[in-house]
Amino acid sequence: MSNDLFLGLDFGTSGARACVIDEGGRVLARAHALYDVHEWMSWLKALAWLVAELPRNLRHRLGAIAVAGTSGTVLLTDATNRPITAPLLYNDDRAQDEAARIRAVAPAGHVAAMATSGLAKLMWLRAQPGTARARYCTDQASWLAAMLTGRPGLSDYHNALKLGYDVEHLTWPDWVRGLGIASLLPRVVAPGETLGMVPLEVAVKLDIPDDCLVRAGTTDSIAAFIAAGASENGDGVTSLGSTLALKLLSAHPVQDAASGVYSHRYGSRWLAGGASNSGGAVLRQFFDDRRLAELSEKIDPNIPSGLDYYPLPAPGERFPVNDPGLLPRMDPRPEDDVRFLHGLLEGIARIEAEGYRRLVALGASPLKRVYTTGGGARNAAWTAIRARLLEVPVTAARHTEAAYGAARLAQQGTRLLA
Ligand code: ADP
Repeated sequence: MSNDLFLGLDFGTSGARACVIDEGGRVLARAHALYDVHEWMSWLKALAWLVAELPRNLRHRLGAIAVAGTSGTVLLTDATNRPITAPLLYNDDRAQDEAARIRAVAPAGHVAAMATSGLAKLMWLRAQPGTARARYCTDQASWLAAMLTGRPGLSDYHNALKLGYDVEHLTWPDWVRGLGIASLLPRVVAPGETLGMVPLEVAVKLDIPDDCLVRAGTTDSIAAFIAAGASENGDGVTSLGSTLALKLLSAHPVQDAASGVYSHRYGSRWLAGGASNSGGAVLRQFFDDRRLAELSEKIDPNIPSGLDYYPLPAPGERFPVNDPGLLPRMDPRPEDDVRFLHGLLEGIARIEAEGYRRLVALGASPLKRVYTTGGGARNAAWTAIRARLLEVPVTAARHTEAAYGAARLAQQGTRLLA
């Protein structure tokens, strides 16, 4: 047997991960590496380290690799893929002036018109001294994929969205081209598209087959969505970590700039998303994880708490309601902590339900079922409360790791998004 295994790599905010799966999607190996997200050399070392960590017999059976990376982490390279700038990270917002220039020409509320967008960062980087020989603007996942193929200048339409790529018409819009950076823009392909084979010297260095394919990657959060297993229109994935993020597979794209709602292309379909400021961080303000589990066991999820909370860690909400001045509503606080937590969980579940209703009201496919990822997924009482309020089946996702989603993309290629 050879070339029957698939490697997903995930370069996230809290480390790099590898996951090897077989044709049936079974996980055969995992690896984890800490890396310095600021240093491209560290990305490369982590990649080599992760591959070396895999059992040799599995490594020799790799048929394809795909990489997921932090979205909006960009850098400039020369024609050989060698960086000529340090990466600007996903959350770097220094490109305020560039964002203003983008806003002047972009359609109202465009996702690339923020200081943290790839496009604003590209313009900022381009204005730095010593960048005249820059040939390509690239993102973390695409740069690593190019290190594997030896072919720079390609990106995928998930990573390219915030670079201003028009995912509806699959082209660079004229307003982007007019910003003085047109010569640096990558050619954009579908996530999962075959980019090429690893060249011999890379195959030898990594000790992997020399006919191993490299497929175009995606962002870390979409890779996590893929991992969760959503496949039909109306499938939602709720990430219940520190914050509350919703993604809904939809026949139509939806957008609402004011509340930060936008849609990624997903093959011939769309992935609509929105994120609330509510989430697990509020629970942490009152209880540690052990106490959360303890109290949750005593909640009867079938009856309403009778409390009308809007839990927020601080004033201000973006989605489902855009209200920068919205105050957290978490009183009156009952004596009984079980009832208090019941009210908090119910309040967050109400925000989640309202969020999906909002996406559907904007034109997304009606919600059919919800997969859950993040720390909140393991709370059975909360899951039952959410199912009651969402009025659809709610289950924990079987897989939650972005590296698993990337492995699925490596395995199925563009079929995955079909
Ligand atoms: P992050 O978004 O920080 O990566 P995680 O997905 O690890 O977060 O989830 C952490 C969050 O999960 C914490 O904010 C915590 O409040 C919440 N959490 C942990 N255990 C439970 C539990 N049993 N029930 C509900 N929430 C929980």
